[in-house]
Amino acid sequence: MARGVLCRVPVAQEIEILEGVQTDIARAITLKLRPSELDRAIACPASLYPREDEILIRSESGDAAAVGSAVHAVLAHVARERLTQLPDVEPFAIAEDVPDKEEEIRILSHIGLKWMNEHPATDAAVETLLRATLGEIELRGTADRITWVQQASGRWTCYIDDYKTGQKSDAGLARQQMTAYGYLAFDSALDRISPDTLFIIRLPWLRDQEVSVLMFTPAELVEWAQDLPRRVAWDGQTYTPGDACRWCPRVAECPGRARLYRASIEALSDTTELVPYEGQLPADPTAWGRAIQQARLLKGLIDDFLKASVTAVEVAGGEVALPTGQKIILKSRAGSASLDPATTIQRLRAMWGLSDEELVQFVSVKKTGVEKFIGAHAERGEKGKLIEATLAQFEEDGILKRGAPARWVDIVSSEEA
Ligand code: SF4
Repeated sequence: MARGVLCRVPVAQEIEILEGVQTDIARAITLKLRPSELDRAIACPASLYPREDEILIRSESGDAAAVGSAVHAVLAHVARERLTQLPDVEPFAIAEDVPDKEEEIRILSHIGLKWMNEHPATDAAVETLLRATLGEIELRGTADRITWVQQASGRWTCYIDDYKTGQKSDAGLARQQMTAYGYLAFDSALDRISPDTLFIIRLPWLRDQEVSVLMFTPAELVEWAQDLPRRVAWDGQTYTPGDACRWCPRVAECPGRARLYRASIEALSDTTELVPYEGQLPADPTAWGRAIQQARLLKGLIDDFLKASVTAVEVAGGEVALPTGQKIILKSRAGSASLDPATTIQRLRAMWGLSDEELVQFVSVKKTGVEKFIGAHAERGEKGKLIEATLAQFEEDGILKRGAPARWVDIVSSEEA
């Protein structure tokens, strides 16, 4: 299939529109995009365009990113060396400067290895950097594993695997990201493409032990690529606050969010009341409009609060980042119990000789998981007592910490946190 036909992407007109906008922000720039940024970029294109004096730092940082890099390095090593067992992960943890996260890296790598063994790919290309240019967009991504399989009919199927070490709920459905990987693989092997070539993108979420799978034909990928410049073009004015803000490098100083907050405060502080007259509410469209707007805003605020609460409750003693750059730190909550992962695993292993298979369920050590595990190993009739005694011992030894009922949250700036 001719490259020119499939990859012609009309972006010139979008760039002209950007140049025509009277703003100090919008201008024609080359967008360097990674597949993992695309879901956010499409939800709010404004997040891609820095002001003249602004540098948007898009890369994740911190321990979570370091753990992810270490796990990817372990799994790449396993794939390259064709190992069936995990190597010692300590050097990988040290290389990423997170030696205290060795246990977490080992567990996530173990799950990755298990998945690889269940989905063998002897001729896979490992950690391959792929690039494609779509007009002014430079799309670049490193796929963990790419495997081309030729069927007896001569048709090729391409499997693209990308391990995820974050939580699945954090990244949403990642549909755009997966499509981007499909397109990058397509663009890198045009000589193998026929109309019935299949691209199967798999994201194994190691922490959740789930796999997202999407399948594309070349025609679908080309259509997506042709539409991408339009979807990430920005008019220099429109901001779309929403879930994407959580991952946006501009979140602390975003004029769009500030505008939304101001409008929300204004609408919510409007005290016009709908007063019934002789048992009937007035047919006043302006007052009804305000009331509906207030109700919507309140619903949005409550939904946001509940979403944040769920995150906080799930990681008892954890933190919730606010769009202002501050953090809510939940001190405690009713009935919470947190277990120290490394020590808990060592203890359980010492008590019952925990096998690797059993270890997999303790990716994040939860009280219920430990209770279930002890219950499964206890003698008949001993289950309840053994669970109670083990957890009491863990508490005494400082491995399990129970939270007091939640009475307050702290809001601190990220510098203080
Ligand atoms: S903070 Fe939200 S609204 Fe503002 S640019 Fe980023 S994603 Fe868009």
